[in-house]
Amino acid sequence: MTVEENLATIQSNLQETCARIGRDPQEITVIAVTKYVTIERAREVIKAGVTNLAENRMEGLYEKSEALNDTMPNWHFIGTLQSKKVKKVIDLVDYLHSLDRLSLAKEINKRAQNKIPCFVQVNVSGETSKQGLKPEEVDSFIEKLKEFEQIQIVGLMTMAPHVNDDTTIRNCFRELRELRDRIASRKLIHAPCSYLSMGMSNDYQIAIEEGATHIRIGSHLVGQKELR
Ligand SMILES: *Cc1c(COP(=O)(O)O)cnc(C)c1O
Repeated sequence: MTVEENLATIQSNLQETCARIGRDPQEITVIAVTKYVTIERAREVIKAGVTNLAENRMEGLYEKSEALNDTMPNWHFIGTLQSKKVKKVIDLVDYLHSLDRLSLAKEINKRAQNKIPCFVQVNVSGETSKQGLKPEEVDSFIEKLKEFEQIQIVGLMTMAPHVNDDTTIRNCFRELRELRDRIASRKLIHAPCSYLSMGMSNDYQIAIEEGATHIRIGSHLVGQKELR
């Protein structure tokens, strides 16, 4: 499958889902996760018209953003960011999806030249293997971010558990949306929190049904390493 074909399939699923539930497809940003693939493959997805790319490791972001600099995509960072690496990458990041601790916020605030739009990562499923704050910790965490001028909380992010049961996945996304709605209703200046980054290759249609504004798609769009 070419990247164009994969993108056409995703776009058509997205359109179909939106039409069925009465959402505007324009509200949804497709982010191509290029962590599995080469620079050449990432260039193909940009050529196909995708302007939002994501990496989960600093090295990947560093390498690809430099090589693809001429194409000027928006770069999303979706992996665990170590505080000591912030200085090196933060100004390459257009959106951070993995803000999950105060020490990281502090370091970003100190190092970033511009305000960084951030998603707070929430571990809704409670799996110990997953990063992110517990849902009940999110309110007080966001409250504490008020003092950090370089941080803007644009939304919440989560990863659904690896299960085959759609109901479990749906409940996870729904809980994130409810949490987002609560925070957004407070109309905090530093945390408008209007976005929901949720949904990957296997569950993006459920995520769209539950209100996702940013879907992060790797294997079904650019492919995995083994399939390249
Ligand atoms: C790898 C990754 C994705 C994309 O996963 P696919 O299942 O390949 O679409 C999305 N979000 C995060 C945080 C990831 O690490």
